[in-house]
Amino acid sequence: MTCSRRLLLVLAAGLAVGLSTSVAVAVDAPVRGVRILMLTQSVGFKHGSVTRPDGALSPAEQAITDLGISSNLFRVDCTQDAAKDFTKENLQNYDIVFFYTTGNLPIDEETRDYFFNDWLKQKGHGFIGAHSAADTYHDYQPYWDMIGGTFDGHPWNAGETVTITVHDTEHPLSKPWGGEFTLKDEIYKFKNWQPEKVRVLMSLNMAKTDLKEPYHVPIAWVKEYGDGKVFHMSLGHREDVWTNPTYMESMLGGIKWILNKEPGDATPNPELSAAQEAKAKADTEAAKK
Ligand SMILES: [Zn+2]
Repeated sequence: MTCSRRLLLVLAAGLAVGLSTSVAVAVDAPVRGVRILMLTQSVGFKHGSVTRPDGALSPAEQAITDLGISSNLFRVDCTQDAAKDFTKENLQNYDIVFFYTTGNLPIDEETRDYFFNDWLKQKGHGFIGAHSAADTYHDYQPYWDMIGGTFDGHPWNAGETVTITVHDTEHPLSKPWGGEFTLKDEIYKFKNWQPEKVRVLMSLNMAKTDLKEPYHVPIAWVKEYGDGKVFHMSLGHREDVWTNPTYMESMLGGIKWILNKEPGDATPNPELSAAQEAKAKADTEAAKK
């Protein structure tokens, strides 16, 4: 957010009598509130959570819009038209970009370059990835390098209840969940995973989940990106997740963290990913016996 001071050149009343006296007056430009651009375009699979009923916002759009109003912290503009709204010019109006997307979005290369190399690296700017954000631009390295990974299937389907461990109970994004919780939702696994660049805050607890797979399944993570910030939380397939008060509290915490209104550690923790990977392997082996 920028708060610029404009110099308004005010011609003095002396003009009226033919004098060309001018006085420079500093005027505070109106301070713009925090704005989020929420993109829910589905080039690939289209989720019910981002499907708009006739003329109304989708469940995810409504939830984030309402969160902005109830917190009195930000305003949300929702779009499903990246070609029209995800432009260099329009990005100037926003602090945070929020993706619940799939597929190769129609954003031109120049705009993408600007977004990754300039816009997102600015202090106070951030990117939020919800659920299928990592199921976007599979083969476009700057994108998955920014997010931290790429969707690689969902062995755990939407009707399954899983147990999730919170590793960092202090970070505003993960704090609302407590130390451990269960949730019914579709759970993603990831490829192009870069543990050395992210701080994992929550993971699937393989020992307490029925379907066991021998690899680490991160659920939420944060990272710094230049002076900007990024967080991704893979939950949110099901529409009822978007009315879950803890999920919304978690989103709000993450937004406050991006805006530097609440502190949160973003130190990468690759050792945690390695330990979780080993634990998942051991849990899977133990279940076979
Ligand atoms: Zn899904």
